[in-house]
Amino acid sequence: MAGNLYYVGSEDLGSYLIATPSGLILINSAFEASVPLIRKSVESLGFHFSDIKILLISHAHSDHCAGSAQIIHLTGAKYYVMAGDGSVVESGGGTDFQYGAKKSNRYPPAHVDRVLHDGDKVSLGGTVLTAHLTPGHTRGTTTWTLDEPEGSRFLHVVIVGSPNVNPGYKLVGNKVYPQIAADYKRGFAVLEKLPCDIFLGAHGSYFGLVGKYPRWKDGDKNAFIDPAGYKAYIADREQAFEKELQRQSVPKR
Ligand SMILES: [Zn+2]
Repeated sequence: MAGNLYYVGSEDLGSYLIATPSGLILINSAFEASVPLIRKSVESLGFHFSDIKILLISHAHSDHCAGSAQIIHLTGAKYYVMAGDGSVVESGGGTDFQYGAKKSNRYPPAHVDRVLHDGDKVSLGGTVLTAHLTPGHTRGTTTWTLDEPEGSRFLHVVIVGSPNVNPGYKLVGNKVYPQIAADYKRGFAVLEKLPCDIFLGAHGSYFGLVGKYPRWKDGDKNAFIDPAGYKAYIADREQAFEKELQRQSVPKR
């Protein structure tokens, strides 16, 4: 996609590989069933799956983290997770505020080697990623940024964690996650300020992967550069959040 950053996900589940001289970083293990596809993608790029040293996630929902235990088992990668999501992945989804109560939502628990906090850096072989806490969707939803050298300048890469309000989310009077609405607002404030050239995210649908990928494949190396698309997406999602908050705030009679 740019420099040492590769897409190794499926059509909608965004997984990203960052290749450094000291090994690989993988963002998002996706579902357990996705692991063979991710592995195939990594290997088809000419890398060894076992060279994954660090595993990161966008947020602790099964479509981004259920495969983590398997990948850690296969590679020995260290698992770095944002504080608010740490207990969720270590409980296999059991402590998730929305989905944890239902056993069928659980996935294999995975041990967290390093608990991240807002602004923490993850470095490997000269590449530095920054973890931005953009909570609400989960308590530890993480938007990852990195700068890719491009000629004499840098391209700002943003991998959006998720600014979306899922069906059934209680924004008002949420007993399990009382500060959920304030967290979303905090997340949008962060997302609005991030400089973005290359717009990516936890799902391909966030940034229009299906439309951009054919252009990239046809040789347009700028296909994922979309600062205006990023701004529009964040504004649209914030509007959707505000609308839902408004709807839930109307007193019921
Ligand atoms: Zn999610």
